[in-house]
Parts: sequence; structure tokens; C-alpha cells
Amino acid sequence: METAVGKTIQEIENNALEALDKVLGIAEVEALSTRYLGRKGELTTFLRNISKLDDDERPMAGKAANILKIKLDAAFKQALDRFSTDDGAISSIDITLPGRPQLRGTIHPVTRITKEISDIFLRLGFDIVEGPEVETDYYNFEALNIPKYHPARDMQDTFYVSDSILLRTHTSPNQPRVMEKVDPPVRMIAPGKVYRCDSDLTHTPMFHQVEGLMVDKNISFGDLKGTLSTLIHQIFDKETSLRFRPSFFPFTEPSAEVDIRCVMCKGKGCRICSWTGWLEVLGAGMVHPAVFENVGYDTSVYTGFAFGMGIERLAMLKYGIDDLRKFFENDMRFLRQF
Ligand SMILES: [Zn+2]
Repeated sequence: METAVGKTIQEIENNALEALDKVLGIAEVEALSTRYLGRKGELTTFLRNISKLDDDERPMAGKAANILKIKLDAAFKQALDRFSTDDGAISSIDITLPGRPQLRGTIHPVTRITKEISDIFLRLGFDIVEGPEVETDYYNFEALNIPKYHPARDMQDTFYVSDSILLRTHTSPNQPRVMEKVDPPVRMIAPGKVYRCDSDLTHTPMFHQVEGLMVDKNISFGDLKGTLSTLIHQIFDKETSLRFRPSFFPFTEPSAEVDIRCVMCKGKGCRICSWTGWLEVLGAGMVHPAVFENVGYDTSVYTGFAFGMGIERLAMLKYGIDDLRKFFENDMRFLRQF
């Protein structure tokens, strides 16, 4: 007993079930179903041509073909169930799909330079400390010799949470927080986020600073210069000279703004340094005696230096980034370069 395509019922059954054993997904089951039970399927064609068989063959062939049709129908349905989830939704696992490549992340330039600065100071024997970003008025201002109504508060556009709670405007609150807890000698840096009501090309409401503090007997301005020179020479290169200009901060006396020789034009003058040949990178000074008194340090015994700098500013100069906002836009094309 042969079909129009020259196959017996038994061969159709063997071929169909063998193929069904190897399917890997719903689409393949459906293709098999069409191939055997579809309008032009092998078994359908066989049934359609059954009238052409001899009289004595016809009843047996018809019965066998109909039994196989029921059998295959059930087998295909079972296979479809196997590839579907319990709730009837089609399984999301199709192991015939090509794999998705695992994307590797890169380290954000702010994180990268923060780690670099931290490594330099760890080698110099400094500790790394962290403090709260939601800070009290006391640690952000008063303990740092910036009392209420002091004109220096105008220098800081502050996000207030309440009258006495605020988002820290600088990393300097870490100075009194550390000194209250430990006796000298103190050697620490405190990197972290700070917040100011400021937003334009060169200012963002949140940015990163690193605070540095060293307190001991006989700490001088020379120690400050040596420490900062070491830092700048390691971040940029040994040819980068530093310049200290007198300045004012309420929590240091004397105070200085520190410039470095422009890393873009090497001092010849360019757009980045406004044709001065110098770039302002940080503020520093000797810790004001009033700050020591607030934390109970004996000002007749101890002296110290402190400094603070913007991390984005350093990253912009080191990596030649011209727009501060690029750090926070999360543009993968930008971030993948680091
Ligand atoms: Zn320049």
C-alpha cells in the first residue's frame, strides 16, 4: 500500500515521529504539522487520493490513515505544549537563537581619577574617609569657622533640607568630623559628592570633591606644597609646575589658590587657560586655629594643612574633556572611551 508520493503509511509515521523527536522549538513543530497534516500535507494528500486505490485496499488504507492522522495530531499538540509555559504563553527560551554578547562596562572617568588620587595618598600614608552627604549646618559651616551671617556663606549656594540640615556644599565637613574622633597625628583624604544650587556650562548641581587634611606637630606650609606637588606630578607629569596665590577661606589661614602650568599649551597660552598659561585647580591653606579650637585640639602644639579640589575639573584637564555635563549624561559613546 503506497501513497501518491510512493510512501507507505508506516513510512509516513516513522518519518514524522523521527522528525518530531528532533525539534527544538514551536516553529519547527508547526512546520512539521503543516508538512504532514496541512492542506497539501503528505497524509492529507494520501487521504485525498484514497479513492484511486483498489476496492480491496481502500477500507484498510483509509482506516490506517485516519488512525495515523489522530496519532500525529496528538503528538504535535503534545510537542507544542512541551515548548509552552504553564500559563499558555509561548516559552521565552528559544535555544536556536544566536547568543547575546556580554557587554563589558568601563570605569567612569570620575571614579577612575578618584581611585588614582586615593592610591597616591594611600602611598603617602593617608587614610581614606567618608562622611554624610546630608549634613548639619554645624559641620558644613559653623565648625569650619563660618558662623551664621558670616559673609562667606554667600560664597556657597546651599540646598537646605531644613533650617539646620543641608546637602553638604563641600567635603570640608569631614575635617571637624575626623578631628572630633581622633587625636593628632591626622592624615586623611575624603573624596565624595557635594551639592550646590548651580547649573550651567561649567557648574552642575552635584559634583565631586576630594578633601585633604594633615595635622601634627611642626606641620608647615612647606609640607602642604610638597604634598600637592607630589599629587600634581603623579596625576599629570613631573614638568607640571605649581603656583600658589594668596586667597581667603574662613577655615584656613593663610589660604592659597593653587594653579598648575596649563597642561594643554604648557604655559604658552590657549583657550583652555584663557591665554594666561595657568589653570586654577584647588584651594588650600593652613588650618585656622578657630577650627582646631572647635574640635578641642591644642593650637599651641599642633598645626596642619587642608586642601580641597574638584575631581571633575582634574578629570577634564587630564582627559581633555571640554564640557562638564558630559560626565553626567551617561552617553555610552563618551563613557566607553575610558
Ligand atoms: Zn593653555
